[in-house]
Amino acid sequence: MKKCLALMLTGVMAMSLLTACGKDNAAETTGDAVAEETETESQEEESAEAEDASAENAETESAGEEDGSTDADVASGVLSDGVLTVGTNAEFPPFEYVGDDGEPDGFDVALIKAIGEKLGVEVRVENMEFEALVAAIGNKIDVAIAGMTITEERQKVVDFSDPYYDALQYVIVPEGSAIASMDDLAGKNIGVQLGTTGDFIASDDVEGANVSQYNKGVDAVNDLINGKVDCVIIDKNPAQVFAEKFEGQVTAVDGAQFGFEVEKYAIAIPKGDTALADQINAALKELKDDGTFDELVSQYIEN
Ligand code: GLN
Repeated sequence: MKKCLALMLTGVMAMSLLTACGKDNAAETTGDAVAEETETESQEEESAEAEDASAENAETESAGEEDGSTDADVASGVLSDGVLTVGTNAEFPPFEYVGDDGEPDGFDVALIKAIGEKLGVEVRVENMEFEALVAAIGNKIDVAIAGMTITEERQKVVDFSDPYYDALQYVIVPEGSAIASMDDLAGKNIGVQLGTTGDFIASDDVEGANVSQYNKGVDAVNDLINGKVDCVIIDKNPAQVFAEKFEGQVTAVDGAQFGFEVEKYAIAIPKGDTALADQINAALKELKDDGTFDELVSQYIEN
């Protein structure tokens, strides 16, 4: 959104440009409001900010990573329009799910809203497919929070905030199943959520597995109950939520038994935007220090 804002602030207000830059209608509307406000308030400040924004922009694009700045006071251009557009996949309880009001809710959604509050920006949550999140960062969305594990592959495309939660893959099996170790998984029909670390384990590490990839974890669990797959590999907390939902039919087995490694969830941010990383990490730290983070853990995860 930086380019759009810089253009607006330099006074180029033509609607055609707004549309050309447009990420989504809602964000444009706010961009408009911000631009209008600054325009009437202070013309000078405005052009100074615009220069800043384009300077920052050029920096991020050319040598963002070498910038080496760790000063959280430096504001990221991403936030300069007052809106943080966040992508998630609301199919991953308790971290994200569609609430009773039809809007994304859950631990991650509450956490990113609290971070937005600390940073003084409005948070807009876009619900999209998990697989699409990483590629959308920096264009359709500013950042993603989706119980997303830090992986080397993803780090080639995006940066991550400090980790905020430890996770582990679990194996959901039918009640009474004999599947209890990595050897037992060999050659099995395994259900996973497409593009997740559970998918990578099943597809890359399990010998002779026949992997069925679903867009929603719950669909994999439904096929487990229907007998179409032998087990489902998915993160611990959703596994426990699903096991509870289908109590008596399935159980969630601890991934440690299978030798799975501990994973760390973090917020995915545009590659090289160290200013944004610093700001998000500073907000995250404040939320941990002031007890908000723990409150959200007990409200959404331990509850
Ligand atoms: N933690 C897993 C991953 O990052 C699954 C995330 C999800 O399904 N939302 O791949």
